[in-house]
Amino acid sequence: MVDKEDLRAEIPSYAFIALARRGMEKISLDQCFLHDCDNRDLNLLEPFKKEIQEDDKKITKKIYIKCKKCNRNFILKLDTLKYVAKSTKDEKEEPLSMGIVYALDENGKDLGHIGYF
Ligand SMILES: [Zn+2]
Repeated sequence: MVDKEDLRAEIPSYAFIALARRGMEKISLDQCFLHDCDNRDLNLLEPFKKEIQEDDKKITKKIYIKCKKCNRNFILKLDTLKYVAKSTKDEKEEPLSMGIVYALDENGKDLGHIGYF
């Protein structure tokens, strides 16, 4: 048995979406990303499984989540890059982010890139 609270702790609370010249928009990851579902209630989202893959460039975590509103499952895929290239324009600039989050449906079909964490 996996501990649901442990799984929940693996999920960042927010992702950031880059908006061309207007900075970043912060969105909650505590929501259902499936089509036609507007569930944003944390209590109706139940993480139940985790898979981790690692190669020399990144660590990929997949958190399987059951949505109790639409009764379907989806997957949050969290790619954490091990080496983040710095901008060549500005030496002082910190890497924007270390991770990218995607949503997948339960068959692994890509629902799209959500943002950065
Ligand atoms: Zn849902």
